[in-house]
Amino acid sequence: MAKLYFRYGAMGCGKTMQLLQVAFNYEERGHRVCVIKPQTDIKNGTKLLTRIGPERETDFCFDRETNLYEEIRKNYAKVDCVLVDEAQFLTPTQADQLMLITVKLHIPVIAYGLRLNFRLNDGGFEGATRLLQIAHNIEELKTICECGHKATINARFVDDKLATSGPDVLIDGTDSKVEYRALCPVCYEKHLEGVR
Ligand SMILES: [Zn+2]
Repeated sequence: MAKLYFRYGAMGCGKTMQLLQVAFNYEERGHRVCVIKPQTDIKNGTKLLTRIGPERETDFCFDRETNLYEEIRKNYAKVDCVLVDEAQFLTPTQADQLMLITVKLHIPVIAYGLRLNFRLNDGGFEGATRLLQIAHNIEELKTICECGHKATINARFVDDKLATSGPDVLIDGTDSKVEYRALCPVCYEKHLEGVR
């Protein structure tokens, strides 16, 4: 039975790297994959980039209206695996469409994404939430905090100060320096006290 996998982890845990590795393994054995990502993640154009080098062109990028099940059924029904990057930006409906791909087209789908947004307390990413609810298999990809403990929180820093509000996706071009750091809950609280 084909399955829907959700592999989540904080920024910098190597989600895209692992996706590229899985694609490589399939293709090395003569199988085909379909690599997709949402247009929300436009910082790298239509490519998947990793911090340590490897990159790859996507097969297609999709917006919030794209019916992923129909798209795969029409154009990629012969692939052996569908790989989704930045899956937190899916709509809940699109997450359900990924499930339908496994059920009706018998193609496994592996979705990589963040579990929660940087604001932590307002419901998070609806795509990630839906995947956590429905995926056959859920796996955490681990990374470490600056203190060495396991990082679970994806914190946004603007000009080196922890930010707790703002839109999901910040458009570059402002004068502020925006970065994300993976933190454990203890270090997150310390940074939080610093900005209170
Ligand atoms: Zn820490």
